[in-house]
Amino acid sequence: MSAPDPPLAVLAELTHRCPLQCPYCSNPVDLERASSELDTATWCRVLDEAAEMGVLQVHFSGGEPTVRKDLEELVRHATRGGLYSNLITAGVLLDEARIEALAAAGLEHVQLSFQDSEAANANRIGGFRGGHQKKHQVARWVRKAGLPLTVNAVVHRQNLDHLEDIIEMAVALDAERLEVAHVQYYGWALKNRAAFLPTRAQLDAATAVVAAARERLKGTLVIDYVVPDYYARWPKACMGGWGRHFLNITPAGKVLPCHAAESIPSLRFDTVAERPLAEIWAQSEAFQRFRGTDWMPELCHSCARREIDWGGCRCQAFALTGDAANTDPACQLSSLHEGVYALAEREAGAPPPAFTYRRIGGAA
Ligand code: SF4
Ligand code: SF4
Repeated sequence: MSAPDPPLAVLAELTHRCPLQCPYCSNPVDLERASSELDTATWCRVLDEAAEMGVLQVHFSGGEPTVRKDLEELVRHATRGGLYSNLITAGVLLDEARIEALAAAGLEHVQLSFQDSEAANANRIGGFRGGHQKKHQVARWVRKAGLPLTVNAVVHRQNLDHLEDIIEMAVALDAERLEVAHVQYYGWALKNRAAFLPTRAQLDAATAVVAAARERLKGTLVIDYVVPDYYARWPKACMGGWGRHFLNITPAGKVLPCHAAESIPSLRFDTVAERPLAEIWAQSEAFQRFRGTDWMPELCHSCARREIDWGGCRCQAFALTGDAANTDPACQLSSLHEGVYALAEREAGAPPPAFTYRRIGGAA
């Protein structure tokens, strides 16, 4: 196989610590502790390695990246290296001075997550009192600092009825983009799946709301929309194909082809302490395993869509079939597709169970 083009973007998960406890968090159930996090000097070296290999963007994420006191330093370092930097945050730890400092360090964009448009439900879902009100304030400070804002809204059966209000909230916050993302079932979200899966009718109603809002808000707000795979006909081209455009670095420095890849127990991941980033991208076993089309089962390998969706999502294939090398059962050609659809309808039709909140060392 020829050497891959460099990745476009790196997701730098600076920490798994987070003051919120969203039960749909895509972080792994075994969260890494503060003591295992990479230090500032190592992150700076890794950012240099990313820039050298041709990466264009770094997304500072977590957990909650603002718990790291060195965030400004890392943003400054990324900027000096020519990287575009984006902050993905729950916002509740930020104040105005820190946002201004981040902007001065070269931060170019903020993605701020909201759990709902309605305060009590938002705070219940996030498990953080007063969080929703604080996020409104943070959004105003972000815009005042001249930074473009994307509102991230994860939607599911326990907030979908408010979708119209969530869209209006994003407009009122002067966001230029809104990401309406149905829960994707990895990590904690997989554990809490029955509490979140909408019915097919709820999904269709939400899709119609998004379509109408896109039309109405043309030129004001761009709306990205991510649907739940369980009701899809074709799988998503997860990460644009395994090891093709993105890499993810965990708080402890493991380099992953996607943020959920650790859920596949057969994979072994190199760390930035062991090998240079470019070498890991090109050669590491975990990146090679599902890169391209050679690994595909016959159903995908002989399919005209194999370089459109790259066989779907490996983590989902593992979660739903027990084998990461299977066709993603979100695909209607998979023999398991009907079963997944039926499972979704069954779980969505029953009363939602209580949340298992995301906590370090707290998985039930
Ligand atoms: S999804 Fe919630 S718990 Fe997970 S990192 Fe984001 S804000 Fe924190
Ligand atoms: S069979 Fe494989 S390649 Fe074809 S559409 Fe389904 S997941 Fe994609």
